[in-house]
Amino acid sequence: MRLSRYYVPTLKETPAEAEVISHKILLRAGMIRKLTSGIYNYLPLGLRSVNKVANIVREEMNRAGAIEVLLPTVQPGDLWKETGRWEFYGKELLRFKDRHDRDYCLGPTHEEVITDLVRGEVRSYKQLPLNLYQIQTKFRDEIRPRFGLMRGREFIMKDAYSFDKDEAGAEESYRAMYEAYSRAFKRIGLKFRAVRADSGAIGGDFSHEFMVLADTGEDTIAVCLDEGCGYAANLEKAATVDPGGQCPATTALPGVEEVATPDQHTVEEVCNFLNVHPSELAKTLLFDADGEPVAALVRGDRELNDVKLRNLLGANELNLATAEQVQAWSGAPVGFAGPVNLKVKRIVADFELRQDQGWITGANKADAHLKNVHLGRDAEIECFADLRVITPGDRCPECGGRIDFWKGIEVGHVFKLGLKYSKAMSATFLDENGKEKFMVMGCYGIGVSRIVASAIEQNNDENGAIFPPSIAPYEVCLMALGGKDQSVTDKAEELYAQLQEAGIEVLYDDRDERPGVKFNDADLIGYPMQLVLGGKGLKNGIIEAKDRRTGERAELPLDDFITNFNAWRDDIWRAWGLK
Ligand code: ATP
Ligand code: MG
Repeated sequence: MRLSRYYVPTLKETPAEAEVISHKILLRAGMIRKLTSGIYNYLPLGLRSVNKVANIVREEMNRAGAIEVLLPTVQPGDLWKETGRWEFYGKELLRFKDRHDRDYCLGPTHEEVITDLVRGEVRSYKQLPLNLYQIQTKFRDEIRPRFGLMRGREFIMKDAYSFDKDEAGAEESYRAMYEAYSRAFKRIGLKFRAVRADSGAIGGDFSHEFMVLADTGEDTIAVCLDEGCGYAANLEKAATVDPGGQCPATTALPGVEEVATPDQHTVEEVCNFLNVHPSELAKTLLFDADGEPVAALVRGDRELNDVKLRNLLGANELNLATAEQVQAWSGAPVGFAGPVNLKVKRIVADFELRQDQGWITGANKADAHLKNVHLGRDAEIECFADLRVITPGDRCPECGGRIDFWKGIEVGHVFKLGLKYSKAMSATFLDENGKEKFMVMGCYGIGVSRIVASAIEQNNDENGAIFPPSIAPYEVCLMALGGKDQSVTDKAEELYAQLQEAGIEVLYDDRDERPGVKFNDADLIGYPMQLVLGGKGLKNGIIEAKDRRTGERAELPLDDFITNFNAWRDDIWRAWGLK
């Protein structure tokens, strides 16, 4: 492509609306333009990158045996009513009516549509397993669209859905997708981790989020610092190590003692007032779990993980008790609940509290706390379990190494759905024995447009983007700096033709611009390779080649140019870990 005939409206100034680096660069490099909040036009260079990501994803999906389809963006509300998500999905689902007053929505995801498609066609176990995917535009009316392609309202997603005849098959489908994702993200050139996520009612390790590691990530993940271990989990999921200890019904130790704590509601207030450390407190949180009162205890300096609590209780709905409920269940205002003589049947505690230590707890009485509470002796704890949020410095649940917190951007998600949609929508088949069974499903998403932004977040410098060669809009930018020297222009034209002939994706900056302008644009857009032909070089029979990532320059002989170029190019791909 010749830049003089192309459409790359670069900007000198950074638009004020852009907060993160990828958004700034994508706008400045003329790769995207905002149409309205969270909705972008993809300009030629941006589109090329998006398409390259999509193609790598497509190749890996095909290799894993998935089959491409294309489903509509507009979906009938009736399907969403079948699964109950018409009500439950919330405001991200953009609902509207057609001229006949029928309900429709813009697809934020396609479980309903795909299940409807498959239930109509698949009858026998012989047609399973089946994995269908598409690369398509999604719409989610995000509450805070931001960061350009990172969190748009309209964005491009690859979504796949697997249908299997049994659990074992579904697990195999899951693993195949996990592997396809790992291969795709590696080929794209991303530094990522597959992070264990909470799989809710399904349980087991059947939900992984693929996270690109970047400081600007919106997600925090717990990562084991031992490279060989590789454990990574999101904070909802990350398990803490059982510290052990016992909780006997101690009588030999000092008895429970009430202390006045007038107006001291929070852990911090109570600790200051009693001059103790938060780790000496056991805080009691009251919940309404599917209508039943439950108390959960964690150490005063810890944070309760409500996903772990919900999973432990097997609850569908878990809400922190209201002030009225707290008053009714504990007999005291918020801030004074404790496990001793609590009018709540189910009391669970984090296993850190199993240590035989006299804890400070609420007294179930306004303005009072208790000291020397031994949970084995003084309270009825239903069970001790992992209930807290992991912290940096915790031990790794897999290898005992040290846990640290990293920032990540979620670029993909693999998830075992089980029977959720097949049951709600009666997607059944006849098994080997002619028995009707529900299909076991999985769903797998990749944020195609978000990946382009994530790649820039990971690879940039003060001058602009540094694209991995596998997803760069063009691999090479060829610049001729001969001014009025026709021999330079002629040679550049010749090299341009040779590169194209050799199948290299080359953008030829043939504009009548100063060298500085060309250099700046090439750096900004971030082609991984730059070729600069000048009058002097031509005389000496060489062209200057710059590796955008390292800034290293090489001189490639113009004799047998393509061979020399390919050798240099191979080195660059290898240095990126892409060959
Ligand atoms: P997030 O927590 O970031 O909102 P999600 O859990 O809602 O993501 P999924 O429903 O699993 O995302 O969608 C699959 C993939 O689509 C995500 O892993 C992400 O890469 C991408 N994605 C989701 N929402 C957006 C968005 N608003 N803009 C761009 N990409 C998105
Ligand atoms: Mg979301």
